[in-house]
Amino acid sequence: MKRTIVEVLLALALIGAGVFGWLSWKQAQTAKGQVTALQAASEEAAKAVSASKAATAAAEEQAAALEEQLGPLQNKVKELDAIKGAMSSGTTLADLEAAYKTQKSLSAERQVGLGALRMLTKGGDDPAALEAFRTALQLTDLGSRKNTMCAAQTALAAAGEKVTVMSECLPQAAHGAPDAHAKDDKGAKPDAHGKPDAHAKDDKAGKPDAHGKPDAHGKDDKHAKPGDKKGADAHAAPHWSYAGDMGPDRWGKEFPTCAKGKSQSPLDIVGPFVKARTSLSAEYKEGPLKILNNGHTIQVNVPPGSKLRVDARPYDLLQFHFHRPSEEKIEGKPMSMVAHFVHKGADGKLVVLGVLLKEGNENPGIKTLWANMPLEEGPEVSPEGVKFNPGSLLPREFDFFSYEGSLTTPPCTEGVTFFILKTTVNVAAAQVTQFPFKINARPVQARNGRDITMN
Ligand SMILES: [Zn+2]
Repeated sequence: MKRTIVEVLLALALIGAGVFGWLSWKQAQTAKGQVTALQAASEEAAKAVSASKAATAAAEEQAAALEEQLGPLQNKVKELDAIKGAMSSGTTLADLEAAYKTQKSLSAERQVGLGALRMLTKGGDDPAALEAFRTALQLTDLGSRKNTMCAAQTALAAAGEKVTVMSECLPQAAHGAPDAHAKDDKGAKPDAHGKPDAHAKDDKAGKPDAHGKPDAHGKDDKHAKPGDKKGADAHAAPHWSYAGDMGPDRWGKEFPTCAKGKSQSPLDIVGPFVKARTSLSAEYKEGPLKILNNGHTIQVNVPPGSKLRVDARPYDLLQFHFHRPSEEKIEGKPMSMVAHFVHKGADGKLVVLGVLLKEGNENPGIKTLWANMPLEEGPEVSPEGVKFNPGSLLPREFDFFSYEGSLTTPPCTEGVTFFILKTTVNVAAAQVTQFPFKINARPVQARNGRDITMN
């Protein structure tokens, strides 16, 4: 009996020991887990601390670098203020204007320089400064004068003008192959239409057409859907047309020169005439046809190599385009159409040769053009294998009337010499009808005492 009790006690003790042992083991396991968790947490904390230390160090470094840059920047601001101060008296501008006064026309670079000086002297709203930038844009082309063009566009945009800055001009833009782009860009050539925003239409960034302009028939064109306009940027170009709210008598609202200019084109060619002492000849060459519908006319962009010589001085043919009826009148009468051949001299001077088209036989050159022209507004097209010689549209006789005028479309920039050939060329009535613009001619403008010469 005694032994049994001892065995039972022993058994109980063993069970107790077992339970105690199990409990102790269990506790130990929990603690171990807690320690592991704590260790992990502290590692995380350590990492976070070191990361934030690194961030702090980087921020401090940046702050130091910025501080270093601030000094020179402040100096630049001071310099600029000093320059502005010196110019605000207007002396520098007056000197420059006096120097330029003797020159008949200024190059694009000089126009930009003059515009910049005017802005610095007279402030951002100076209309003459804006006009200078617009003129510069008119004179520039993307291929050779991209920087000047960018300067003028950026300046106008900065002044709050409605002008589209080409993507190439924006700081983040890739500067690859501007020449290749120029070839594709129907706006790459300054035209007698002189749209400051011509380039925006081909913008690779896919900006909607900023024009939203009605076509020659007065209907809104397809590129001006409301949906398109939503995305248009703040620098969208003002639109203009040949009829209605934005017709020629309203162009002056957006383009002051159109209303205030004293040497505007076109003119009614009426005597008395002054004897011309100028000689004129054209050396146009065949090249691949590049044709476009820009919403205002059908235009053919001409590859380099075709020239007009005025007293042996060469002017490169950039493009030609058509108006219906002719913009020029001869003794009050317009012709069915006119072709305007737009040339530019080395100094940026524009010369327009006008060839009047009179209803008669079919014109084979125009047949080729009309067969390839886009009927809707859009980018330049180069139909495979089609060649064209602009000389095929010229008459044999080269007698002319000449006068000093302007672009016949906004911005109506002046300083453009016109030669209107006396000899007309034929165009069939059906060919006139096929031209997709029913009326795209600016009315004749006041002569204001200008000479019209004749040879
Ligand atoms: Zn024209």
